[in-house]
Amino acid sequence: MKVSLNKSNIAVMSMIHLFGIAGIFYVPQAATSTIYLAIILYFLTGLSITGGLHRFWSHRSYTAKRPLQLFYLFFSTMAMVGSTIWWCRDHRIHHKYSDTELDPHNARRGFWWSHIGWLFFEKPAAIREAAKKIPMDDLYGDALLKLQHKYYQWISPVLALGVPVALCSLWNDPIGGLMVAGFLRIMLKLHATLSINSFAHAWGRKPYRSDILPVENHVLSLFAHGEGYHNFHHAYQYDWKASENLKCLNLTAWLIWFCEKIGLAEGLKEAKIRAPLDNMGLVSKTS
Ligand SMILES: [Zn+2]
Ligand SMILES: [Zn+2]
Repeated sequence: MKVSLNKSNIAVMSMIHLFGIAGIFYVPQAATSTIYLAIILYFLTGLSITGGLHRFWSHRSYTAKRPLQLFYLFFSTMAMVGSTIWWCRDHRIHHKYSDTELDPHNARRGFWWSHIGWLFFEKPAAIREAAKKIPMDDLYGDALLKLQHKYYQWISPVLALGVPVALCSLWNDPIGGLMVAGFLRIMLKLHATLSINSFAHAWGRKPYRSDILPVENHVLSLFAHGEGYHNFHHAYQYDWKASENLKCLNLTAWLIWFCEKIGLAEGLKEAKIRAPLDNMGLVSKTS
């Protein structure tokens, strides 16, 4: 398979990691308010990826009202993980062709490929062709998403870096805003998100479908706001919780549940779950 380097992705990734790692060393000098801002932004951008890009736009597992969509759009743009249209297309292909040659981050090609290696290369022709057949009309029909996609390379750095710098300037720590609440926070969130493609396709239990690579991984759910229940998610991708129930580390599901209560979300789709399997791949309980 002929591959060529994705130079713009390599440049962006290099910059995020260079300044992100430098940001680690800046933490002791950063203002306390800057640290708090970095943590708050980690959660807001993270929940916008999981609740917005993933469960709402990619899977339509529930309907987010426009104010909630705007929240998701704003903070997911701040995460620098790609435009909504780009992210969702890749994610829909991932589910349709999971862990095959047509999956952009096919976990059968190894841990590093599925984690970050896939971002360094242009997609092969076969994946680009498969992408054309992925239904995307719902996203292209949204003028706001098209606008975000068109100007993403300009809007994203302004929101991701410009906003933290401006806010941290209020307490005289613009450098901390750039290095800690900007680059370091982006780098940590990026790896938490990418871990679902790597760790959650490698190590953990498979209680729902033993014939696929995705697994259940509680540790990942802590960092990725409830996205670690990946065996369940691949078995029942349209379930709004992306886990069997709410009795687990699923901050995203708790947010969606709360948004439904206050009228910002509706039409939560629930999977009819067949009996989970035990570690041996056998049915462990009846449902
Ligand atoms: Zn997956
Ligand atoms: Zn998914």
